[in-house]
Amino acid sequence: SGFTVAIVGRPNVGKSTFFNRMLEQRKAIVDNVSGVTRDRQYGVAEWTGKSFNLIDTGGFVPESEDVFEREIKKQVLIALEEANALIFVVDASTGITTLDEAMADVLRRTTKPVFLAVNKVDNADRLLEAAEFYSLGFENIFFLSSMTGSGTGELLDAVTALI
Ligand code: GDP
Ligand code: MG
Repeated sequence: SGFTVAIVGRPNVGKSTFFNRMLEQRKAIVDNVSGVTRDRQYGVAEWTGKSFNLIDTGGFVPESEDVFEREIKKQVLIALEEANALIFVVDASTGITTLDEAMADVLRRTTKPVFLAVNKVDNADRLLEAAEFYSLGFENIFFLSSMTGSGTGELLDAVTALI
């Protein structure tokens, strides 16, 4: 199908790990260093017989906090133009950051569906901590671990329900 989903989020939250898991092949570059995925990666994901295009938005090497925030917002706006729906990835191991809030501000204004993916929920303790992400105000919220794959199925069910 022509349905396109873009993965957005600040660097290091696990966007490329999630992307790779969806594609089940190593297309994006995953690294411990922030901003390693410099370009957009495109792939086709498949779930319960439905396929859709998936975009992994790139990282960005900051010159300053201000430039960083502006650049991230720009990426979100580009992703919004290209995609039918967005997966907004945040990191349960760090909690909500100012950049998450800045992105949430942009994403709350779109009429396109936004799925908040609280990533790195690897265990039950993390799940308790992750509850703070409800405060970002997104109705579609999913708790998952891109590393173990736990919780990714529920998110994919919700995304593919739109196709
Ligand atoms: P990106 O910058 O948002 O694309 O993030 P990456 O996918 O490159 O991941 C950044 C770091 O987070 C890497 O060290 C990943 O191995 C790690 N990571 C990604 N997903 C998970 C997860 O579900 N749990 C844990 N514990 N680490 C993760
Ligand atoms: Mg990446």
